[in-house]
Amino acid sequence: MAVKKYNKTTLKKFRELLMGERNRIAEDLNYQKSELNKTITEGAGELSSATYHMADVGTDMAEREKTSLFAHRQAKYLSDVDEALDRVDEETYGVCIICGDLIEEGRLMAAPIAKYHVSCKETQNQRNNNQ
Ligand SMILES: [Zn+2]
Repeated sequence: MAVKKYNKTTLKKFRELLMGERNRIAEDLNYQKSELNKTITEGAGELSSATYHMADVGTDMAEREKTSLFAHRQAKYLSDVDEALDRVDEETYGVCIICGDLIEEGRLMAAPIAKYHVSCKETQNQRNNNQ
C-alpha cells in the first residue's frame, strides 16, 4: 500500500496557514507579556493606596495567573505549530498518526495542528479506558 500524503500544492497552502498561526501567536505572546508587565506595575501602585488592597491583590494575582496560563498555552500551541511545520517539510503533514490515512482538509483548516482523525482519537481513548 502506497504511503498517503498531501501533494506539494496543498502542503504549501498549509505551510502558509501555519506560518500565519505562528505570527498570530507570537504577536499574542508579545501583547500578553506587555500586559503582564503593566499589571505588575499597576498592582504595586495599588498596594499603597487602595483601601481594599488585599482583595485587589487577590484579583490581581488571579488575573496574572490567568494571563500566564494563557501565555503558557500559547507557547505550547506555538511548539505544536512548529512541529506541524516540520511535518510539512517531511511531507507527513495531514496524515493521521493513528490510522495512516489522510485527515480531511476541512479539519486541517479548522485545526491546522491536528495529527489524527477525531474518530481515531475517540477509538483510542475508548480502548485506553477499557484497559
Ligand atoms: Zn485516522
